[in-house]
Amino acid sequence: MSEVTLPEVASPLHFIGGEFAAAVAGGTFEVINPATEELTTMAARGDAADIDAAVRAAKESFDDGAWSRVKPEFRRKVMFKAADLMEARADEIVKLQSLEMGGPIGPEHKGPHPMISRSAWNFRFFAEEQELAGNHSFNRDDTLLTYTMSDPAGVFGLITPWNGPFMLSTWKMAPCLAYGNSAVHKPSELSPLSIRMLCEIFQEAGMPAGAYNMVLGYGQEAGIPLVEHDDVIGVSFTGSPATARDIASRAAKSLKRTSFELGGKSANIIFADADLKKAIPAAAMSIFMNAGQACVAGSRILVQRPIFEEFLAGFEKAAANWKAGSPFDRSTRLGPLVSKRQYDRVMGYLASARDEGRILFGGDRPEGLDTGYFVAPTAIVDVDSSAKVCQEEIFGPVAVIMPFDDADHALEIANDSDYGLAGYIWTDSQTTAHYVNHRLQTAMIWINAGFDRDLRQPFGGIKNSGRGREGGNFSREFYTETRFTSFPLVPR
Ligand code: NAD
Repeated sequence: MSEVTLPEVASPLHFIGGEFAAAVAGGTFEVINPATEELTTMAARGDAADIDAAVRAAKESFDDGAWSRVKPEFRRKVMFKAADLMEARADEIVKLQSLEMGGPIGPEHKGPHPMISRSAWNFRFFAEEQELAGNHSFNRDDTLLTYTMSDPAGVFGLITPWNGPFMLSTWKMAPCLAYGNSAVHKPSELSPLSIRMLCEIFQEAGMPAGAYNMVLGYGQEAGIPLVEHDDVIGVSFTGSPATARDIASRAAKSLKRTSFELGGKSANIIFADADLKKAIPAAAMSIFMNAGQACVAGSRILVQRPIFEEFLAGFEKAAANWKAGSPFDRSTRLGPLVSKRQYDRVMGYLASARDEGRILFGGDRPEGLDTGYFVAPTAIVDVDSSAKVCQEEIFGPVAVIMPFDDADHALEIANDSDYGLAGYIWTDSQTTAHYVNHRLQTAMIWINAGFDRDLRQPFGGIKNSGRGREGGNFSREFYTETRFTSFPLVPR
């Protein structure tokens, strides 16, 4: 059994104007440990009054210029310091995240946990980008000088999900803050613990009070007032398409800008000439990592017919390596699902799978784990692409596996989806890889590789997987106000 010490849990509070604060109305909500189903603590339950206080603090901070109008060098220094502190407190952050959403802490690391390294990199990357990136100058001839400026835009609402609560939050707040804006962040009600670390880190790093604010609570009670607040100029949201539709319709009333990173049902296409020694473990990683609660999960595995049976046998073997158990056991690879609701949802899909196809392995709780929201690694076969389990995002460790004949058949199945987030292609043929790549209706494609990316790339989705892109210049465009100035170069 593990010798990992559990983290200290303080009751989660809002963070407004640089201070921790209880809810104005005094409300709280339960934080449940998904691995034990026990109550961890009670968290501050935000509503319109808390959001209003946070937006006021953010606007005051923006207007006084202590963050929005300082030299970019100051912002870089604070953000680099914050990145250093994340790494210094990595162990604590990772454990709090495991406690709130069940992700395993994983094996010991030499340096900081990869999730923390990535979070720190988000900060360092955008801290440098805002300082080093240039503006444009468009000069038609020598009579008119024109130049553009990318200015801080105002107060943004940042709304994040629970499946990667810490890293996904830094992925939004780093560009938002780097470009001089103020933020009001509403993390998921299912993951209100680890975010406290970031607030403490900002205090220690010297970020001016009010630049970053955070209100805990439910979407209906705290999320909606944030979206509708008159002093919020834009909303960056990561979550489900249904919530995005609601946010879009509310934001439209005041013409707020929005950015949506949504769900997926991504195809992992494996051709007969692929290197199965690499493709099989990568396919397992793609759907079992984070217990399948990943937007980019390769949840539909398409396998060319000649290697279909060989793939199934290899995949079942690979799945057996995904040991389920306590997230605090360093040998655990598969933690619980985040909540009872999510567990019931996934079990509902497994019931559908029994009608629509056949469960090859898994399909229930892992053996010996009677408590916690655990679901065993599962594969569904003999299923048509139109089936519910092939069309809807299950968000659990559940893969559907379908055979295909040739590249066009693979594309027909892969593109038969309302989603278009990620795609994975495994083949030894460059021609096949690029043929499929160009016809796959999805925004992010990996060839012969698992998930890996450069922060300058445009992260996002098409169809129901999103609107807008995050990363490098794409984030800059969203989080700044671009203006141009024209100046005659000839005397008038
Ligand atoms: P969700 O839409 O239920 O909730 C996301 C956030 O929105 C939470 O903070 C929630 O409180 C808030 N919210 C809910 N209703 C709201 C409303 N009406 N107005 C304002 N805010 C509201 O999503 P979830 O279940 O927390 O997250 C899982 C989803 O997120 C999956 O679909 C997953 O694929 C997607 N996701 C996408 C990406 C990506 O980058 N594309 C990354 C991670 C997760």
